[in-house]
Amino acid sequence: MDDALLIARLGAIVGAANVKTDETARREASQSWYPRETKQKQSSGNSGGGVLPLRLHRAVVFPADAGEVAAVVRWANETRTPLVPVGGSSNTVGGTQPEKNSGSVAVSLSRLQNLTWDEESLLCRAGAGWNLHSLEETLNRHGYTLGQVPQSLYLATVGGSVAANAVGLLSGKYGRQADRTAALEVVLATGVILQTQAAPGGSAGPDIARLIHGSEGTLGIVTEATLHMRPLPEARAWGVFTFPDFVTGLDALRLIHRTDARPAAVRLFDPAGAEEHLGQGGLPTQSALLLFAFEGDELSQTGPYQVAHAVCQKVGGSEQSPDIGEAWWEERFETGWMAPNGRPGGIADVFAVSAPWSRLGGVYAAMGTALAPLVTQRHAHIGHAYASGAALNIIFEAQAEPGTPEAALELYGRITHAAVDACQDAGGLIAHHYGIGSAYRDAMAREWGEAGLATLRQIKAALDPNNILNPGKLFG
Ligand SMILES: Cc1cc2nc3c(=O)[nH]c(=O)nc-3n(C[C@H](O)[C@H](O)[C@H](O)COP(=O)(O)OP(=O)(O)OC[C@H]3O[C@@H](n4cnc5c(N)ncnc54)[C@H](O)[C@@H]3O)c2cc1C
Repeated sequence: MDDALLIARLGAIVGAANVKTDETARREASQSWYPRETKQKQSSGNSGGGVLPLRLHRAVVFPADAGEVAAVVRWANETRTPLVPVGGSSNTVGGTQPEKNSGSVAVSLSRLQNLTWDEESLLCRAGAGWNLHSLEETLNRHGYTLGQVPQSLYLATVGGSVAANAVGLLSGKYGRQADRTAALEVVLATGVILQTQAAPGGSAGPDIARLIHGSEGTLGIVTEATLHMRPLPEARAWGVFTFPDFVTGLDALRLIHRTDARPAAVRLFDPAGAEEHLGQGGLPTQSALLLFAFEGDELSQTGPYQVAHAVCQKVGGSEQSPDIGEAWWEERFETGWMAPNGRPGGIADVFAVSAPWSRLGGVYAAMGTALAPLVTQRHAHIGHAYASGAALNIIFEAQAEPGTPEAALELYGRITHAAVDACQDAGGLIAHHYGIGSAYRDAMAREWGEAGLATLRQIKAALDPNNILNPGKLFG
């Protein structure tokens, strides 16, 4: 189908003004925060030429509602055109990038901005295109919060957050996106609009909405989510401790999560990660740093706060000023860790892995050993903790020689392989919250095992027989 016919067919569904084929729109929809794409953009410049051109979607379509999304999907089935749903493009795994020579069309959900809420049931229905920060701010004005505060709050959308099953910094209290979602409206690959029910509980068969969470645009296009709201907490109280090393800090976190005291937010930095927060005003350097926060009323007097405090003291932690926690919270949306992408040959990224407590120290050590010869800097932190284990983020910077985008990409590939292999060898899982996209799809067989991956692929084939929804991502 030539461009004119494509525009005419899609324009008949969404209106001609809502189909874009200019390079700016296609670039915007084709690029995310995946370090590979950033390097490709640098090498190709603004002209679209260069040695490593960024692949572009053929067009971007902007439907207004679920009905238009369904019509676009039916058209894609007829013409066997791959569709890639696009939210805030904040994924770091190549989740929205076009596959090679696929002729894909990007479906932006940005016009889906409906919003209603039910204060009695603490539920809000939001269109998939809502930016998470705008939605949170709107609800805050009425005394509510979604409790979903990822570090990408200002970038991500409701639909993208569902599709990625994202997790916010207050996960200890609110859980992750699937826990915050009461119901979904999803356009399936056949063009059918599925609406799940928002009643609490339910045992009438498997939870289809859970299947959509984390499906990265491969099983359906989310057009609306019914989300749980909570009244805004009155206060947040921070506890801050240093520990002689990371492993002792891990022990403190593990023991806290063995009790019923579950902090809303935790951050345990290894000594390299803690460096910027310590060493001032007589604080010990070369220490691990744990920040934890509880939310509610009169917090520092309450049992859970005191329990966590006592655990930290028992394992040898030294109490520090809660201001360190407050200061970190103020800076929580800082995204400086991607900065080396701007340097010739510089590359940076984060691995967000997870493991049971019994294997976590081993995963941290194994990944550190694997990365040491390849990177110029690395530091780690725990950002989400559970009774059974925790999520470990390892952030690195590396410098390729010569400082070309090609060399940076080659080095990036080696670093990713080394880190993923080390994590899996040590018994960790590779994707606590950044997902798979195209970055980690080769690791899926080991992540799920043969039977697990085969089952996922059967579900995909049943729901999307023509493989039109984000083909190539997640399932490989
Ligand atoms: C600086 C930074 C910090 C981050 N911090 C966090 C964090 O704290 N926690 C966390 O979990 N993640 C984090 N991320 C990753 C990212 O923000 C999340 O994955 C986010 O939920 C993606 O939302 P999005 O709207 O940007 O989706 P996109 O990046 O546009 O898309 C993500 C995936 O979902 C699909 N998709 C998008 N919209 C829809 C839809 N409506 N229906 C179906 N599929 C869809 C896309 O095809 C793609 O596969 C961070 C990223 C950055 C850059």
